[in-house]
Amino acid sequence: MNNNIKGIHHITAIAGNAKKNHDFYTRVLGLRLVKKTVNFDDPHTYHFYYGDKTGTPGSILTFFPWEGITIGRRGARQVTEIGYSVPENSLDFWLKRFDDNNVIYNKPSEKFGEQYLSFLDPDGLKIELTVPKNADNREPWTTNEVSAENATRGFHNITITSNKIEATAKILTDVFGYRLLEQHVNRYRFITDAVDNAAIVDLVEIPSEIAGHVAGGSVHHVAFRVENEEILMQYREKIVNLGLNITEKIDRNYFYSLYFREPGGVLFELATENPGFATDETVEQLGSGLKLPAQYESIRKDIEKTLPKLD
Ligand code: ZN
Repeated sequence: MNNNIKGIHHITAIAGNAKKNHDFYTRVLGLRLVKKTVNFDDPHTYHFYYGDKTGTPGSILTFFPWEGITIGRRGARQVTEIGYSVPENSLDFWLKRFDDNNVIYNKPSEKFGEQYLSFLDPDGLKIELTVPKNADNREPWTTNEVSAENATRGFHNITITSNKIEATAKILTDVFGYRLLEQHVNRYRFITDAVDNAAIVDLVEIPSEIAGHVAGGSVHHVAFRVENEEILMQYREKIVNLGLNITEKIDRNYFYSLYFREPGGVLFELATENPGFATDETVEQLGSGLKLPAQYESIRKDIEKTLPKLD
């Protein structure tokens, strides 16, 4: 049994138009929609989960699309960049694809000796495609337009921006089992050895940066991966012992979760590997049906009528 935090489980962000979001992530980026459900607290809003074939932890990016939501602002106390890993020599493919699809991007650059290409999704969410130093052997989801030699492999890293990184770093090292790998100017790269991928958290320290505003095009929270509920509850105790507030265990249908705000201001979630996404539809069917938690099945017709059409 692996008692450590096993890197990133999923990242949840906020979008505006549902159709645009769905088109961008499934067609342009070539991810699989592994679950189409609703916001459990607001069932007339979608909750999309994009990932690899089965929605492996470390590959899952989720969105709440709220039509007409104001655009957020990147800043301190936020996850400010989401990094996917891509194969060597794939950046030219992505540059052309972004040109063809009017995606806003910066020319490729390098950090910690790794080449990356950063771009914005339709709501301004900042994402990076990175060619990692160590080859990423995860099996990609592929489409007619995005083949295996170019497809994303799941997450490489996330970046958190802070006025002062110390307290967040302490959670990563003393509680989550990460260690400082490298530092360049004000970017501190932390890694966990518990997993091979989705193992990196970069903390960027900018003392004067004003706090970001979480709305459209920004990250709502990042979830870290634990093996099962027993380990989840061990972490709950560790967080409680630090004097931080943390929720009770919440059943998210596809995983069990706890939420707490880390001292740097970012909402952290801990999420289990079990039961996974193939619980209410088969692996082949993932993402094809609208899946509702039991409490909303009685109003399914009403929900289906009000949710935006995706094609
Ligand atoms: Zn979550």
